Amino acid sequence: MNIRKLIAGNWKMNGTVAVLSEIETIAAGTPDSVDVAICPPFTLIAPASGRGVPIGAQDCHSASTGAHTGCVSVAMLKEAGATLCIVGHSERRADNFETDSDVRAKAEAAQAGGLIAIVCVGETLKQRDAGEAISVVQGQLAGSLPENRDGLVVAYEPVWAIGTGRTPTTGDVADMHAAIRAVVGPAVRILYGGSVKPSNAAELLAVPNVDGALVGGASLTAADFLPIVAAA
Ligand code: PGA
Repeated sequence: MNIRKLIAGNWKMNGTVAVLSEIETIAAGTPDSVDVAICPPFTLIAPASGRGVPIGAQDCHSASTGAHTGCVSVAMLKEAGATLCIVGHSERRADNFETDSDVRAKAEAAQAGGLIAIVCVGETLKQRDAGEAISVVQGQLAGSLPENRDGLVVAYEPVWAIGTGRTPTTGDVADMHAAIRAVVGPAVRILYGGSVKPSNAAELLAVPNVDGALVGGASLTAADFLPIVAAA
């Protein structure tokens, strides 16, 4: 199955209104053959919208309203202009103790509210060294994926590759993405994430079953992001 590639940027807790012009530069430099998205912090979703690139959130709450201080609902994200939402990023699993079932509830809420859910999975270095990478990810998929696969995106992000400059071998990426494909079926986009940069993007994006990338550090400027888009 020929799946259009998606290059999604995760700005994490970075960015200001002053740098949103990067998004217009990204829009202008993206060929029609590739999908892109940028996921800035909550406060930048509204001002980032309408600049020619689909905008996503980095998290959502699974409830629609209520006493959840500091949280943001899917309807709020949509009203602000978001069309996608990352859920279950390893930094949220680690920093905010999010479990697989929390992640699934968020993904279901995102889908029910009309957002494309990007569900993140990935093993730690200890788990990889123990030979458990694939079984750990299979367990995360079983626990975190919503039943509805329409428009669903899965991002495989080895925790030890995020922000470290280290990446798995292309053989390890191929094995993991094949294992994920066996679970999700032919239509779900499977992104690779973790230290994707202009110098390694072409090699990673050429691996079978890699349908795009989730890019952190190298998504903050058009100068880094556009060569990754061009490699897709
Ligand atoms: P990185 O982050 O590209 O900076 O490694 C990727 C991510 O956490 O989504």
